[in-house]
Formats: sequence, structure tokens, C-alpha cells
Amino acid sequence: MNFHEYQSKDLFAEYGIPVPHGKVAETPEEAVKIAQEMDADMWVVKAQVHAGGRGKAGGVKLAKTLQEVEQYSKDMLGMKIETYQTGGLALPVNQVLITEAADIEKELYLSLLVDRANKCLSFVVSAEGGVEIEEVAKTSPEKIHTLHVNNEEGLFPYACRKVGFAMGLTAKQVGQLAKIMIALHKMFHENDLALVEVNPLIIDDQQNLIALDAKVGADENALFRHKKLAALRDVTQEDPAEAKAHEHELNYIKLDGDIACMVNGAGLAMATMDVIKLKGGEPANFLDVGGGATAERVAIAFKIILSDPNVKSILVNIFGGIVRCDLIANGIISAIEEVGVEVPIIVRLEGTNVNEGKKILNESNLSVISADDLDDAANKAVAAIQ
Ligand code: ADP
Ligand code: MG
Repeated sequence: MNFHEYQSKDLFAEYGIPVPHGKVAETPEEAVKIAQEMDADMWVVKAQVHAGGRGKAGGVKLAKTLQEVEQYSKDMLGMKIETYQTGGLALPVNQVLITEAADIEKELYLSLLVDRANKCLSFVVSAEGGVEIEEVAKTSPEKIHTLHVNNEEGLFPYACRKVGFAMGLTAKQVGQLAKIMIALHKMFHENDLALVEVNPLIIDDQQNLIALDAKVGADENALFRHKKLAALRDVTQEDPAEAKAHEHELNYIKLDGDIACMVNGAGLAMATMDVIKLKGGEPANFLDVGGGATAERVAIAFKIILSDPNVKSILVNIFGGIVRCDLIANGIISAIEEVGVEVPIIVRLEGTNVNEGKKILNESNLSVISADDLDDAANKAVAAIQ
């Protein structure tokens, strides 16, 4: 789960990481009031969406007067922003952050992430900030420094200082960088985060390091023990179908293909997608309806699947281990009747009471195509869209 910049900065502030003063507004009037009350003579109006790259998309503007604060807030509020980080979605701007304008001497890059390949947390740091780090990695990889944090030993200040000196910072700045890195590391652990990115981390005209932008992502699976963070969820920033699935505790991820999948069990769902691809098809989604698939959950899953206009056929692959296939068959039928599915549905059932389940499907007068096994099901799902 991702957070807004202002929420991320609040978390930074709690850990003593320096951020510019700022407050979030939902109306232009509120924005002006915040700017007036702030001890600043220039402000930056920043659209709050769950993505970076706002600068280029007109979502970050320097305001020299209160009139400009009002105008830029008016322009941004209600606008939709699509950047290289929004994954094809246009995210609505419901809030703007009014923040003091900083005197930027230099923009740096700092992030902390779960480094799966090295089985640890790793910092990625660069003296080349404010730009897309992917670009820096491509054009001048020598400017990127990586620091792996040993899981048992933790993070040592000397290791942070080494990174700072490698970046060419002054002794004073190196000290500040080490403090920020140690605070970020603590924050990461205490909140079960998945990613922290500060781009840019700036050196201002007083030679101080300040986090000018902040992006924090939390590990969904640990949110149950971070109620305060969980409450910050903003579903307006998420794919509507994925948000709905989340609400019903279904694991759904939209993909680009046209063969929808409804499967119980994440492993089986992955295998189903693989077999679809093997047969020359493209899965439209990943969907795990869970071990205890009920008729209601199947109906909701159908609705979510069908909200994707690209879907041309649906492959239902259920293994009756905990659930019985006859129950699932009835569930599928009532869901189809309720939702009104118009694309071909291919059903592969296996496991407890499979024969009863197949009989129910065959005897229903709905056009459900029954499959013998996964191979057969995938062939039929691919054939159905041709
Ligand atoms: P995004 O990453 O979404 O484009 P940023 O917060 O990184 O948004 O802002 C983009 C750029 O705008 C920064 O690299 C910086 O140059 C400038 N900027 C952002 N906030 C401020 C600020 N408070 N004062 C001065 N310049 C800023
Ligand atoms: Mg940024």
C-alpha cells in the first residue's frame, strides 16, 4: 500500500527526518489560508497523487504570490494526473500540499528497499537526484551507490558516512546523511515498510540536507498490526477493480490480456496463467478467490473480472480440496445468473465431488464449457476468443 507525499512526510517528521514545513488543502481557499499562516515568501503547490513524475505533469508549481497559490491549487484540484509511474491510470488530485519553497543547491537521491536478491534491506544513493533513477542507472551507473544492511548486525553509522563521502558530500552533510539513513532504517523496520524513496533529498543554501519529496510504501501483509498506517489508505488512488477485490479480501491483479482467470489458491492461479500463455493466450488478470470460495465470493469475483472490458473469455479453475465441487458448481451457476455473463466460460473442476459438480454444470442450461483438465481448459479458453 502506498501513501501520499504529505503522509510520508508526516512519518518522516516523527522520526526526526527534516522535511519542509507544509500542510495539505482540499480547496483553493484553504490553500491560501495555509500559505498565509506559513512563515514563507514563496510556496510550492504539489498535487497529491500516489506517483512520482508529477513535476513534468504539471503537478508541482512554484507560487510567488498568494494569488498564484490560489490559481495553482484551483488548477490542480480535480485534475487527473498520469505519469510514467501511474501504470496507465489517471489519478485524481483531491488534495494539494502547500509547502515552503526551498533554496536548492543540489538534488540527491536516497532510497531504502527490500532487496530480495541479497536477502536484506539495501540503500540506493546517488548524488544525481531529482531525475528518474532508472535513467541514471542506465547512463551513469557509477553514480549510484548501494549499501546492503546486514540483517543481524544492523546499520552502522560508519557505513552511512562512507556512502556520503563517496558521493562527495562535506563532513557536515555526511553527518546529516548518516542521521537520516539511520532514522529511515528504524522507520522502515518499525512500520514494516516495503519502500522508502526520497527524490530529491536536497542540499539547501544553508548546506543542510532536507527531504523535499517523500514516497513510502508499506507491506500489505503487515498492515494488520499498523492500524494508524492502514487508516491512511486512499482508494481513489487505486485501480477500482483491485480496490473492490481488496475490500472483499480477494487477491486480484489486473493484467493486459483477454482471458480472465478465476482460481482458488495463489499457486494454482500462477500455474493457470502459465498454461494460458503456453497455449498462446494472454491472461487478463490474476485472481485467487481463496481456499474457502463461496457462491457470494464467486459472484463478486465474476463482477470484478467483468469490469475489465478486455475480457473475451473466462477460465474457472477450481480445485475442490476444502470446498466441494458441487457447491462451487452451484455457486458458478447462481453467479452467472446474477451477473449475466456474456463471454464464454470454461470451467475445470477437480477434487471432492467432481462428478456431481460436472453434472450440475452440464445439466444447467447456461452455456458453460466444461473441461477435463487444465490443459483442455486452457485450449478451450484460447479457442473461445478466436
Ligand atoms: P515528483 O517526483 O512527483 O516530480 P517532487 O516533489 O520530486 O515531485 O518535485 C519535483 C521537483 O520540483 C523537485 O525535483 C524540485 O526540483 C522541485 N520542488 C519540489 N518541491 C519543492 C520545494 N518545496 N521547493 C523548491 N522546489 C521544489
Ligand atoms: Mg520526486
